[in-house]
Amino acid sequence: MKSESLAEAVNKRRTFAIISHPDAGKTTITEQLLLFGGVVRKAGTVKAKKSGSFAKSDWMEIEKKRGISVTSSVMQFDYAGKRVNILDTPGHEDFSEDTYRTLMAVDAAVMVIDSAKGIEPQTKKLFQVCKMRGIPIFTFINKLDRDGREPLDLVTELEEVLGIAAYPMNWPIGMGKGLKGIYDLFNHRVELYRREDQAESLIALNDQGEISDAEPLAEESIYQQVLDEVRLLHDAGNQFDAAKIAQGKLTPVFFGSALTNFGVKTFLDAFLQFAPAPAAHTLADGQKIEPVATDFSGFIFKIQANMNPNHRDRIAFVRICSGEFKRGMDVTLTRNLKKLRLSNSTQFMAETRETLETAVAGDIIGLYDTGNFQIGDTIFSGKNKIQFAKLPQFTPEIFVKVTAKNVMKQKSFHKGIAQLVQEGAVQLYQSYSTGEYILGAVGQLQFEVFQFRMLNEYHSEVIMTPMGKKIARWIEPEQLDEKMSSSRNLLVKDRQGNPLFLFENAFSERWFKDKYPQVKLTAKL
Ligand code: GDP
Repeated sequence: MKSESLAEAVNKRRTFAIISHPDAGKTTITEQLLLFGGVVRKAGTVKAKKSGSFAKSDWMEIEKKRGISVTSSVMQFDYAGKRVNILDTPGHEDFSEDTYRTLMAVDAAVMVIDSAKGIEPQTKKLFQVCKMRGIPIFTFINKLDRDGREPLDLVTELEEVLGIAAYPMNWPIGMGKGLKGIYDLFNHRVELYRREDQAESLIALNDQGEISDAEPLAEESIYQQVLDEVRLLHDAGNQFDAAKIAQGKLTPVFFGSALTNFGVKTFLDAFLQFAPAPAAHTLADGQKIEPVATDFSGFIFKIQANMNPNHRDRIAFVRICSGEFKRGMDVTLTRNLKKLRLSNSTQFMAETRETLETAVAGDIIGLYDTGNFQIGDTIFSGKNKIQFAKLPQFTPEIFVKVTAKNVMKQKSFHKGIAQLVQEGAVQLYQSYSTGEYILGAVGQLQFEVFQFRMLNEYHSEVIMTPMGKKIARWIEPEQLDEKMSSSRNLLVKDRQGNPLFLFENAFSERWFKDKYPQVKLTAKL
């Protein structure tokens, strides 16, 4: 690895995901970050790709030039001496367990919130996964160029709805058409709003935290109001505390407008200062493995099947947790102690061929997989066998009944289900009373991929009958009485045989709790 030591290389890594509700501006801000990283030269490329208006041939050109995968799930760039890895968390109709699992592979998260909407359902769910992991969470409140809710209101909502303390790093001066800039508490300056093509305009604050009276902004009532609010924050709000940020107990809050690229650089600079380098990962036996350990290790958090039947390969996404990856290296798969040579690897959006060949702890690599890997698998080099802690299970929210169309083909149906369920594509349940198979997923796409792969890989045509949304709650086997089950709370068992109810809605769950107050119901996450 040239002259750089492993420790230097690892400490440069900043690996994170952006979490948000659809339309909050995740794609727009990602693109601005890529612009700062020099990965894309023109605004609109990521955006256009998403909407499909970007000519495919152009996109493939970019792909060839930069080695970007079309399904560019990981974006890497260098900025301010750091190597940044952004992992995509699919939203919209692609929302799935993969979205949650991706959060197992990052060291920090950026939460983008629409200033007019505040915290929305998907943000909340993704936030909870981050909170469970205890990773630092940075908040970017977006769309300041439009009229939104009062900043104080938004910050209070973070504390009340998400239960995380918030520290505003800056504070908007006006909004929408009246947006004048941001009062930057952290950098001790005012950043004036400017058009995208204009240079930054920064005014230093004096010891009293004010701009000079000679500045035109000093005269404006909105500025005076911000001064009052900032004093209030100073007296009554949280203190800045880097240790609490690192533990995920305090979220630094930034305001800005991704679309007009205002406040994004300010955010990125502070983010890279406080976002952590790759840390130690916990093993199944509770021990930890340091990222700078010499032996390579990593775990698989996502497997992406190729939907094109002509290319049946899959890509297994590996988070490297320790050491260095070199293309062609030999590793052991902990689950079956199989030895594998990693010759077919890809690093997403790598800029040079050299970086395609190697990667270090903190990076994500994609391995072409012909069926060796499962989600949650550990791979390692060297003599010491290691196994990373199990990935958590996520409670599915939508369910379908599934049967084989052709009753004569039960064998391939069962084989297909067993393998796809094991791979983590969907969750499988079985009804207590009828023995019917029920599949559960976080997002609709998981069912579609399941159906497609059953047909293409196992030659099994399946019929799926939608059951709609359900609330899955596990129950202690010793508390179970089959008579508790009804049409509004279907009793099923999971793959391990644990009983759970699928409640019709929150009302039926409440009704059940009232009727059986002694019964403990638990969600997986
Ligand atoms: P995503 O679904 O979270 O990836 O959101 P997008 O980045 O696709 O943004 C959703 C919509 O909001 C698009 O029409 C964007 O142009 C718009 N948008 C994103 N950021 C801003 C912003 O800062 N200001 C305004 N006015 N619109 C924005």
